Amino acid sequence: MTDLFTRARGVIPGGVSSPVRAFGSVGGTPVFVAEARGAHVVDVEGRDYVDLVASWGPALLGHAHPEVVAAVQEAAARGLSFGAPTAAEVELAETIRTRVPLAEQVRFVSTGTEATMTAVRLARGATSRDVIVKFAGCYHGHSDALLAAAGSGVATQGLPGSAGVTRAATADTVVVEYNDVAALERVFAESGDRIAAVITEGAPANMGVVPPAAGFNAAIRDLTARHGALMILDEVLTGFRVSPSGWLGLEPGLVPDLVTFGKVVGGGMPLAAIAGRADLMQLLAPVGPVYQAGTLSGNPLATAAGLATLRLADTAVYRTVDTRSAELQSAVADALSRASVPHVVQRAGSLFSVFFRDAPVANYEDAKAQDTAAFGRFFHTMLDHGVALPPSAFEAWFLTAAHDDAAMNRIADALPAAARSAAGA
Ligand SMILES: *Cc1c(COP(=O)(O)O)cnc(C)c1O
Repeated sequence: MTDLFTRARGVIPGGVSSPVRAFGSVGGTPVFVAEARGAHVVDVEGRDYVDLVASWGPALLGHAHPEVVAAVQEAAARGLSFGAPTAAEVELAETIRTRVPLAEQVRFVSTGTEATMTAVRLARGATSRDVIVKFAGCYHGHSDALLAAAGSGVATQGLPGSAGVTRAATADTVVVEYNDVAALERVFAESGDRIAAVITEGAPANMGVVPPAAGFNAAIRDLTARHGALMILDEVLTGFRVSPSGWLGLEPGLVPDLVTFGKVVGGGMPLAAIAGRADLMQLLAPVGPVYQAGTLSGNPLATAAGLATLRLADTAVYRTVDTRSAELQSAVADALSRASVPHVVQRAGSLFSVFFRDAPVANYEDAKAQDTAAFGRFFHTMLDHGVALPPSAFEAWFLTAAHDDAAMNRIADALPAAARSAAGA
């Protein structure tokens, strides 16, 4: 694969279409995937891995679920893209609203980045205010205004933000430490009448998994409501993954104004959505003055994959993913304890990640204070034993409903050696 990586780097920056895939923070050569099925991915040399990346979340049912593939094939035979409305989009929007009632109206886009970017524009249009508040370590895609102190690849590369983002583009973005209600109160006390929205992940999973402290999301809701600002809950990662109705299913009293979906909602195809209160959503063109559009938005193949995935994602699927996640969390903690490796396992529903440090992580500062070199050694030993983890210490580990006993056993078998590597032995 080193030859392929050399070729890739010759024609593609870093050899990858998205930065974290390049293995920059763990070293070595990325696995070039040829195919994936169930809980497994197979590389271009025919080597099989138990996969804990799940395409960074979408593969809730496991890779290439036969019914999802069939739905996409059937849709493909009827045409790849029309640039016109379809019945399937209506059905998918209705399916989303059934699971998440506050999603009274839904607009489809192709990526999570577009969904959050649109949510921000909509919030500014709705309030006639400029300022957006985000939390350090939360990742909301790569639009300019949201690239300040972002998680995911920005965290993996240790960047404060991004070159090419002008000061003007982030001048109206205020970054607050996660789980810090007092800091958020101060921001609202100072400039509450200029704040259009607070955007937050349902549970942050792009700096590793950092669950909201009890009452934190409620405090955001309360402050935004009192100051006439909107609350945008970014469920691109948590949506339809941690429960049938995402993070909102785990925190039922929480009622944000707008919510964004991606990843699972497209079942592995490029599809994402912004949704929320009808009076707000009606501000979008063509009904209202907030412009938003997309040539491939609501693409029929992506819509078919999303519909099939949500149809198949029943309570049994979520139960399986929850169970497998709990099993893996205790197996990892066990192996690391045995090897005397400082660690904390943090979870939010079935999402979890492992921090190589000895104290709980409440925010981005804590998340950065971990032994990423230990993670790199752990990662490579797992990979050598046929288990593919996300190649970054700042990402969640993803289970699927297809992780069967054989897959779990292979992971369990790999853990002791990986823990010893992490220990440096
Ligand atoms: C992945 C992610 C995004 C960006 O979605 P893309 O489809 O990669 O553009 C936005 N928000 C959150 C919470 C995410 O996890």
